[in-house]
Amino acid sequence: HAAWPASDGISYDKLKQILQDTPSPERAREWSQYYTAGPHMTGKNRSQAEWTAQKWEEFGLQSSLVNYDVYLNYPVDHRLALLKDGEVEFEATLEEDVLEEDPTSGLADRIPTFHGYSASGNVTAPYVYCNYGTYEDYEELQKAGVELEGKIALIKYGGIFRGLKLKRASELGMVGGVIYSDPGDDGEITEENGYKPYPDGPARNPSSVQRGSVEYLSVAPGDPTTIGYPSLPGAPRQSTDGKIPDIPSLPISYAEALPLLKALNGHGPNASSFPSSWHTGGLAYKGIHYNTGPTPSTLTLNLVNTQSYVTTPLWNVLGIINGSIPDEVIIIGNHRDAWIAGGAGDPNSGSAALMEVIRSFSAALAQGWKPLRTLVFASWDGEEYGLLGSTEWVEEYLPWLSEATVAYINVDVGARGPNFQTSAAPVLNKLIEAATGEVLSPNQTVAGQTVRDTWSGHISTMGSGSDFTAFQDFAGVPCIDVGFGAGKGDPVYHYHSNYDSFRWMERFGDPGWGYHVAIAKIIAVLAAELVEAPVIGFSATEYAEGLGRYLESVKAKARTVSDETAAMDPAIEEATFAPLDQAITAFRHTATTFDASAAALSTLLVSLSTTPTTPPALLTDLYASARKVNTKYKLLERQFLYAPGLDSRSWFKHVVFAPGLWTGYAGATFPGIVEALEEGNRTGVGKWVGIVGGRVEGAGKLLGE
Ligand code: GLU
Ligand code: CA
Ligand code: ZN
Ligand code: ZN
Repeated sequence: HAAWPASDGISYDKLKQILQDTPSPERAREWSQYYTAGPHMTGKNRSQAEWTAQKWEEFGLQSSLVNYDVYLNYPVDHRLALLKDGEVEFEATLEEDVLEEDPTSGLADRIPTFHGYSASGNVTAPYVYCNYGTYEDYEELQKAGVELEGKIALIKYGGIFRGLKLKRASELGMVGGVIYSDPGDDGEITEENGYKPYPDGPARNPSSVQRGSVEYLSVAPGDPTTIGYPSLPGAPRQSTDGKIPDIPSLPISYAEALPLLKALNGHGPNASSFPSSWHTGGLAYKGIHYNTGPTPSTLTLNLVNTQSYVTTPLWNVLGIINGSIPDEVIIIGNHRDAWIAGGAGDPNSGSAALMEVIRSFSAALAQGWKPLRTLVFASWDGEEYGLLGSTEWVEEYLPWLSEATVAYINVDVGARGPNFQTSAAPVLNKLIEAATGEVLSPNQTVAGQTVRDTWSGHISTMGSGSDFTAFQDFAGVPCIDVGFGAGKGDPVYHYHSNYDSFRWMERFGDPGWGYHVAIAKIIAVLAAELVEAPVIGFSATEYAEGLGRYLESVKAKARTVSDETAAMDPAIEEATFAPLDQAITAFRHTATTFDASAAALSTLLVSLSTTPTTPPALLTDLYASARKVNTKYKLLERQFLYAPGLDSRSWFKHVVFAPGLWTGYAGATFPGIVEALEEGNRTGVGKWVGIVGGRVEGAGKLLGE
């Protein structure tokens, strides 16, 4: 697309060469070192925000701080003790070990172990081991007759978003929650298998604790006092009831979970009598039997959690590179805030990569690049508490975003291992396949292998857990999230722990910083394609294919819903879903036709715009046609929004994608239909089939007009 639209800038090939040549491991390492040198929690990282804006200005961006006043908690005090007949059997330190080898683990101002949005409280009660604390786990406990009411839940991390573990516990009358990291979820790399723990080896340090938010994120992300509108000074504030837990909770290490688990031995049923998801505990070799309890009334936990709730400013940094088309915008974002002094993986591997992306585009600008579309960069604050910075910003700029945004690219943990991972809106599938095919893999087993060659090719559906959520689910902007993760045989990532540090990254996570560089290149190449292609390279066909698959999975669900009476017989199923089936079939037809003509137009434009003899008037006409196609691609995702939102959580406006009601991180497809099915609500199913069908028809109409 060298000369489109009659640009006097550099060629597209030259642009991509610059994006491949500029990112460097040394620079990524430097950025990482800067961001991870000390605490930079939400609302406590102003100097980093200002520094980031300053750097972006130096790189030729126009940048500014965009602030919101958010309601959140900072830790004051905590205690966890195991009491036997009122005497202290075990008193948890609730501290991670200070490691001489890892300087940020021992800073005087290091951040205590606590949960974002946890309730203050002081409870003493017997406790129950609840496995992962999924909805189904609690169901199993109830089936087995384990009393939950009035008890404290001892829960493993993993599977679902931590806040939802507490949500269900609270609904069942439990009075507190203690969540620990079981090494059974660490893959192969465990002490049990003979690996040394960090800092001497790649296994989990037994004292490591996962902090994290317990906001009920599938109900709504963002500031829980301003759901649906921005937390600007003077904004009305809502009650937080039903949005954050009403029972106190603490995160602990497996070292400190051991005495609690041990005291459960012999009390209540054993996990081995439950389904296989209960058999993953990794502490049997330490004498843990994984009995559920409850403990007898003489054996209790005292859980004290004291939080200070405040309304306090946070600082997003926004930067812009103006293109010649102002209302076709590509946004790239990463959060800056971390739970710990370090945060070398989460989020600052992404922050380092983002810096390299910006430095690369800056190099292109210096060589005369004139971007076609507009690029916006965001360094979000407040992600950790519940996607605060990004959500408030999307809520504030919704009208402009709806009109102008083509796509949002998110990078949170950019690098913590060798496995490329992505989730994306289907329109972007082809583009991520192409971009990963242009970037060399840092671990080539065959020379010249690209990331595409070493990647499984799996693209997850959009769920939640990072800053894309408001873009995808509230604004209907197609999103992609990218990063390099760790597999079962890779060093254990100390998520939200003091050991997610610069030292860990350099020694175990990304020694050589090659994955930081690779993720920067993938983002830059993907963004360049979105910014420069005369015809935006979206695939509506992929969307149609996706819709077809999601409907098949809904039908499968309809046959197997746990409530037998609600399960549908095949004839009713056919009749119920027929309208949606037909709408999807029609949309598939329109989408393939549309994509084909868009591709033909693209080919023609690229070739004619580089042919000197092409009459200018013909080019002008073709550009006008491209503009029409691009506007339709830009607005396609928006067609899947339903203004009243989902029945039980109206902030979520997208009818195809939402975080699972009881998973949080993992995406649910056709959430309105699925939730009605799960409730055995036939009328609701019919209603949602109609709503979704209507949106699919709307999308077809947009493309077909
Ligand atoms: N990414 C953070 C976490 O998983 C925040 C997610 C959220 O609160 O939505 O804890
Ligand atoms: Ca809000
Ligand atoms: Zn993060
Ligand atoms: Zn995080």
